[in-house]
Amino acid sequence: MIKTEKVLHLKSSRGGKVRVVREHYLRERVDCRSSLCQDDCNSDGKLLSGDVTHYVVPDAGVVRDFLEVLEFRELQGIVFTQTACQAAHHARGRRHYNRLRGLLKDPRHDCVLFANEFQQYSYCPREKGETQEKWHTRCVYHAAVWYYNHLTGQKPVVMISEDEEAIKEYSSQNTGVYVISTQEYLQSFWPDLQAAQELYTSIAHALQERESEGVEKEYTEHLPAEVLEAGIKSGRYIQGMLSVNKHRSQNEAFVRFEGSSNKDTELNSDILISGGKHRNRAVHGDVVAVELLPRSEWSGRTNSLTDGQTEEKAGEDTQSKPMPTGRVVGIVQRNWRDYVVTFPPKEELHSQSRNTQKILVIPWDYRIPKIRISTQQAEVLQDHRVIVRLDSWDSTSLYPNGHTVRVLGKAGELETEIQTILVENCIHVPPFSEAQLREMPVNSREQPWQMDPSEVSSRRDLRDTHLVFSIDPLGCEDVDDTLSIRTLPGGKRLELGVHIADVTHFVKKGSLTDLEARTRATTYYMADRRYDMLPPVLSADLCSLLGGVDRYAMSVLWELDDETLAVCNVWYGRTLIRSSYQLHYELAQSLLNGEGVEVPELLQLESPEQGQKLADLLQALETLTRVARHLRAQRDKVGALELEGVEVRAQLDKDKNIAALVPKQPLEVHETVAECMIYANHWVARKIQESFPHQALLRHHPPPRQEFFNQLVDSAKSRGFIIDTRSNKALADSLDRAVDPQDPLVNRLLRMMATQAMSNALYFSTGACPEEQYYHYGLALERYTHFTSPIRRYADIIVHRLLMAAIQSEKDGCLHKTLDSNKELHELAQQINNRNRAAQHAQKQSIELFQCLYFRDKDPLTDERCVADAIIYSIRANGILVFLPQYGLKGAVYLKNRENKVVSVRDDGKCEWQAGTLQRYLDRVSTFTSTGTHTFHLFDHVTVRISVVPSRCHADSVHLELISNKQHRTERAQSQPSGRGQSELVREVVRREEEASLQAEEQKARRPKFSKEEREFRQSKTPNLYSLLQEISELAMLDLTVCHLPNNEAQTCSTSA
Ligand SMILES: [Zn+2]
Repeated sequence: MIKTEKVLHLKSSRGGKVRVVREHYLRERVDCRSSLCQDDCNSDGKLLSGDVTHYVVPDAGVVRDFLEVLEFRELQGIVFTQTACQAAHHARGRRHYNRLRGLLKDPRHDCVLFANEFQQYSYCPREKGETQEKWHTRCVYHAAVWYYNHLTGQKPVVMISEDEEAIKEYSSQNTGVYVISTQEYLQSFWPDLQAAQELYTSIAHALQERESEGVEKEYTEHLPAEVLEAGIKSGRYIQGMLSVNKHRSQNEAFVRFEGSSNKDTELNSDILISGGKHRNRAVHGDVVAVELLPRSEWSGRTNSLTDGQTEEKAGEDTQSKPMPTGRVVGIVQRNWRDYVVTFPPKEELHSQSRNTQKILVIPWDYRIPKIRISTQQAEVLQDHRVIVRLDSWDSTSLYPNGHTVRVLGKAGELETEIQTILVENCIHVPPFSEAQLREMPVNSREQPWQMDPSEVSSRRDLRDTHLVFSIDPLGCEDVDDTLSIRTLPGGKRLELGVHIADVTHFVKKGSLTDLEARTRATTYYMADRRYDMLPPVLSADLCSLLGGVDRYAMSVLWELDDETLAVCNVWYGRTLIRSSYQLHYELAQSLLNGEGVEVPELLQLESPEQGQKLADLLQALETLTRVARHLRAQRDKVGALELEGVEVRAQLDKDKNIAALVPKQPLEVHETVAECMIYANHWVARKIQESFPHQALLRHHPPPRQEFFNQLVDSAKSRGFIIDTRSNKALADSLDRAVDPQDPLVNRLLRMMATQAMSNALYFSTGACPEEQYYHYGLALERYTHFTSPIRRYADIIVHRLLMAAIQSEKDGCLHKTLDSNKELHELAQQINNRNRAAQHAQKQSIELFQCLYFRDKDPLTDERCVADAIIYSIRANGILVFLPQYGLKGAVYLKNRENKVVSVRDDGKCEWQAGTLQRYLDRVSTFTSTGTHTFHLFDHVTVRISVVPSRCHADSVHLELISNKQHRTERAQSQPSGRGQSELVREVVRREEEASLQAEEQKARRPKFSKEEREFRQSKTPNLYSLLQEISELAMLDLTVCHLPNNEAQTCSTSA
């Protein structure tokens, strides 16, 4: 080993230069990380594929400026040099560097790190007078030459650089080592990868433009990092995440108060950031440092309804009382992501681009400011939606600078709009890759999957001893849970069993499938389709606990005292099962009710055997019901809640499409199954928490803050109900009593308000949270986790692995080395929580999209489907919020318009605009006009007209207009169960969209049909809302059709790259 010195010139955070001398050791042997290596120099870890035409070595400038281009998975054989990585880290900071590290770690990207500066023969010291840039380029070139020679010339090596001089200098020095520009590289080697070339051009443009920037300051400079840090520590500044008010994006933003860092005890609310200057270039989602303004400059948040689209009209709004107000002094962390934007219309384009090629694009998300980009495609892409990334926002620039990444498609088309929703929520669901699918077991007619004999012998075999069955909605194909119940010999004890698909047998930790599932974290349910977390060969086949086939399972078996039902013993472990009956809910309930129904599995049997089997099944169902009642009663005693959201469920037809969302008939068997799953989750939570007190994944549901219940309590009071929110038990009991016999919707709305007041249930690592916060408020359980749906939730996969590790450590007495640490688990829990939130938002937005597509081409004045009954659930300063049961839709209704006219009611109930004034009270709002006073109370039924407000740059929105203060009654509305409209509209829109695309398809040349494999592994378009609804019933705690209220949790979304 040779010792040398390396001199570095680093920038300090104050902007000065620091000279650092480091000892530097050179070695003869450094991992080359190529699978073609003949020197055997690689220890372990990721290797570069040998199956490429060349290797490519980007120089420091390319890694610094064009990393995004290198992120395309299609580009293979990339060697990142240590020189380039360190230089990029230095120039672009930690975030950029983390991205690079992520790329290097990810086995789905064919790229490696070569530590060229430790390699004795590739290292080159800096020469006198040589600039840092030139030196870096020379180092990278030397590394490329070394690499070529080291692999004995088996692969040509291409170095890419943006430095024209370097290209001239090096391009003909060594045969086999080529030096070309990035653009030439992409054009010659990846001519089909159009997207990469476009991205390159767009970044190059952005870089050019940035050099020609002005110097006039638009904003105050941000404070340097160490000043912020010290200020936050001392309490002078407050750290928090910026959340922009969607409806007043120009003016109103809040910084979410992050408790511990703040010493000002008075301050327990959000901090208001008013106006653009005070927001000082912070973008929604950024973590910022805020300085409070003097009290005299504080102002209040606004309570009245506004259209998000329009500019603010000052002075007119009723402001609530002054609240802590501040200004942003610095950015602690940027959380920029991909943004979907629309180009300005042609007319504006010309006025904008007089002197430069820069144009201002408008983000789909109201909370994001306009972005300056340079492009020549603005006219061509007029009607398209485009993805843009932010590059910088200097104090001299009124708007942030960015560059285009990819064109999504024509605005307004279903596919574009769905893709927009996915991008906006950072949901990345590419088709499963070939490499990943190669990991999957095969199960075809020619090659049926078979159980491994060694697996069979290592598992507890329940196939002959246990009557196992599943109860699901009709047509369910991914069965991840089954049940069993039997009386143990002696007759004194019962044995209850919950058997869950053994997904972790097939998905090994660290495999590509595991990584992909971890990234997705959940199956995503949109209104018309779903994006699966696992490939279908697992989710719909080998992991699905179908009837009559042998399957691996993870089981929990409880021995219960036959009389008291107390738990005497619990067994956890891997099993083999063969489900005897795949029942659906209605069938199971009919059996329990003693109705003469046929069980398909028994049809072929002769009568004595049939009778015996039927009696066995019936007895099992009855015992199960008895046990579940007992379990539910135990939880009820301590305050389990039943909330709004549980009552709709999906009805699937023969082809497994949703036929309707029908109100849940209160079948007891639903609760029976749910109760058993909750029980299994609870016991598994106890088990893994005992085994791993500092690194188990649990799920808790924090008790809500009392002030969030104010609306619920006040609203209920206006109807004479008293809601007691002191505990979950009190709340549950008082909600049960708050029933208006005349109007069942009142109770439903109260339950919705209760749901709204609550926080979301969240995953956490036991080491990252004090034990008194483990409690699950909604379920009234001390310990809870998710174990029962590993096919569609990654948390359950982690929990299965934890459970196996717990069982293993009991056997051999030692902890598993492969277990995630508390820190890793904590980060993973946050990532899963974040993905779940994204999944919920995306789903909500997709439902809104369908609502708009449904109403878009109906004439609101003539089409009776545009008129609906609505019930008032909230009173605002200039209007009301209403719920439309027929369409499951919520929205705002204005009682005062921009011309200052108010709604007045004629004798027949019809509404019209008239000059007048408006007065808001706690439980009602009144308008005063020359014709009299008209009052709208909470829970009043009114009639509204639905129309769609189209938007070029944002999502279309539904507009509601009051047409009568009377309840709207039609035969249709009467006969139709609530909630059903929603699925009808999804179907209608999808059908129309498919017809349209079919026509377009026919007009074009006929495309080849999907291959069988493609069809099989494509993301599913089959709606399966069932699982989602079950999730809600487990208190997902987010009302999917809620409209925006001030206290709603802001959508936070960090870059998922
Ligand atoms: Zn080697």
